[in-house]
Amino acid sequence: MDAKPVYQLYIDGEFCAAEDGAMFDTLNPATGNVWASVSAAGEADVNRAVAAALHALYEGPWAAMTATQRGKLLFRLADLVAANAERLGDIETIDSGKLARETRAQTAYVGDYYRYYAGLADKIQGATLPIDKPDMHVYTMREPIGVVAAVVPWNAQMFLTATKLGPALAAGNTVVLKASEDAPAPMLEFARLVNEAGFPPGVVNVITGYGEPCGRILTSHPDVARVAFTGGPSTARRIVENTAHNFAVVSLELGGKSPILVFDDADVDGAVNGIIAGNFGATGQSCVAGSRVFIHSRVYDQVLERVCQRAATINIGDPLDLKVDMGPLATRRQLIHITEAVAASQAQGAEILHGGKRPGQLDKGWYFEPTVIACNDQNVRTVQEEMFGPVLSALRFDDEEQGIAYANDTRFGLGSGVFTRDVARALRVSKRIRSGIVWVNTYRAISPISPFGGFKQSGYGREAGLDAINDYTRTKAVWVSTSQAPMADPFTMR
Ligand code: NAD
Repeated sequence: MDAKPVYQLYIDGEFCAAEDGAMFDTLNPATGNVWASVSAAGEADVNRAVAAALHALYEGPWAAMTATQRGKLLFRLADLVAANAERLGDIETIDSGKLARETRAQTAYVGDYYRYYAGLADKIQGATLPIDKPDMHVYTMREPIGVVAAVVPWNAQMFLTATKLGPALAAGNTVVLKASEDAPAPMLEFARLVNEAGFPPGVVNVITGYGEPCGRILTSHPDVARVAFTGGPSTARRIVENTAHNFAVVSLELGGKSPILVFDDADVDGAVNGIIAGNFGATGQSCVAGSRVFIHSRVYDQVLERVCQRAATINIGDPLDLKVDMGPLATRRQLIHITEAVAASQAQGAEILHGGKRPGQLDKGWYFEPTVIACNDQNVRTVQEEMFGPVLSALRFDDEEQGIAYANDTRFGLGSGVFTRDVARALRVSKRIRSGIVWVNTYRAISPISPFGGFKQSGYGREAGLDAINDYTRTKAVWVSTSQAPMADPFTMR
């Protein structure tokens, strides 16, 4: 039998064990078995990583590099990530249970995120101000904010890392990246590529450990100036509390309970594909899962019947098998959460039209069937709570006004989908839906060029797109007197 892989922290350009030697096991969701062992960073390791990042920010070769040189390093990283997409993707699959088909493709595409920000590195500009004082020249500079703590969850790690690391590095910051304890190995594999790309020591540090203490110590560290977080809302509340200690600038990409609205004039095939992609793609473990599906009464039965027929053909199994459509959930606690929520919804009167349990043929691992639930009202638990699994709740609506009201009746506001052939309606509805992203006649499309992020309790700040880079800079105003006379004594009246 092969030896179990061992992964170490990446601090100041070197792979190293935690100072106290602490390790933890990471499990393969397809089997429930331990497959690798990973260093658990404690306080001393977090402090060392932040110190390395701070040193690299002000003292090392990184500080002296031009923006164009930083861009070149990012281009190199982009090529390395894309070239290693298969290997990185497979490790992410083993560690998180996400389909290899998805992790490989997503990692290959992630190269384009680094390229996008590599190209922007030398386009970050200040301005000369038309100042309201004579003999004064005032200009602004956009400087890096400082040490960035990037905290990522286990799903879509390469993507969620790129949306933070790309703009952070392009703008000249240094980074301590904290991987999720639920699937930490891919980030330490990624660290090898950072090393190979030639970033100076300390510019990117990758640590693995638990939210408590590792994440807490990192995000409240006095030398951390910027926190970029993706994860759940309850963790986000703790992060905001943590940053009361260092006043770090924070961006939060949180969960969702995104609506998909299907109007009676929609192309039914397209709408069904959108619903399937939005709920069963990535085993529903997607922050933008369109898990509240509102269907116009006139087409409700027809659309749901088609969704159930399609769900019945989904091939569930080993996520490394490229023919499989849906893998396991990432953690056992996710499986328990979903199982309980589905049972509670049934007890509230909701009807399970498809799935609702573990698949009989898979006795190992944390699998759950694609599940379609017909709900009579919005109080049903699966309608209210983020499932983060393959569970969709369907409800009827009777007209546009009611559909919009239902769609907005949530504390979240990340994504939304609108299926209609009527362009005017698409524009009206898109304007009134309170979410950071609206997809019309499509779903789950992403690009480095388009901003990503939520309204309401789905968080604040945007990742990807042009503006995201400014969120990793701070503005400095420089005042220069152009007067030929020296500055006058302020207490001498003329
Ligand atoms: P999580 O909130 O449990 O963990 C995320 C990260 O936070 C992990 O690295 C964890 O170790 C760390 N953490 C935990 N406690 C901490 C603390 N006190 N201080 C600092 N860090 C701490 O999230 P998860 O279960 O790994 O991921 C699922 C959640 O992420 C879902 O709610 C999902 O919707 C959300 N998500 C959002 C997006 C988005 O872009 N909006 C994308 C993917 C996932």
